[in-house]
Amino acid sequence: MMKKAKLVAHHDDPPCTARLTYGRCNRCNLIPDMQSICLYAYCPKCDCSLTKMRCPGCKQTFKSHETLPPTLPPTFTVGEMLNLLTDAAKIFHKETLVLVKRNRHMNDLSEKDFARLKRRKKLTQRLIEALLVQFINEIGARQNVDYGLYAKDLKEN
Ligand SMILES: [Zn+2]
Ligand SMILES: [Zn+2]
Repeated sequence: MMKKAKLVAHHDDPPCTARLTYGRCNRCNLIPDMQSICLYAYCPKCDCSLTKMRCPGCKQTFKSHETLPPTLPPTFTVGEMLNLLTDAAKIFHKETLVLVKRNRHMNDLSEKDFARLKRRKKLTQRLIEALLVQFINEIGARQNVDYGLYAKDLKEN
């Protein structure tokens, strides 16, 4: 039977992700409130943080903790988040215009605008891809990650 990881509270107030001792962040010298706390899965033996539920110390793989409350913020790394966005963009770029048109109550584009965009279909598509790539790279840059996504990457599987 696979062992269960233990949960350890960390400060979750970017850029601080320091481990808490008795609820206190020694780096920031304060006791963060619940919204600024994130629980990390740890190896109970080595007392270190797991990578994809695997202990970098003893190499054991652990079962995810079932008692995790559903409201717990997921512990995504920035890289995982950017990959998630890229995966979504790979599908989304193919139907952006259709979706944006369907939800035009949420944007400022008119029927006329859509007619224009459709007339210049290839240009429109290149702009959509450029915007998606730019946006995802921007999110990375704000987290100090040089993600380097290119428009051509959206067409790869
Ligand atoms: Zn802190
Ligand atoms: Zn271990």
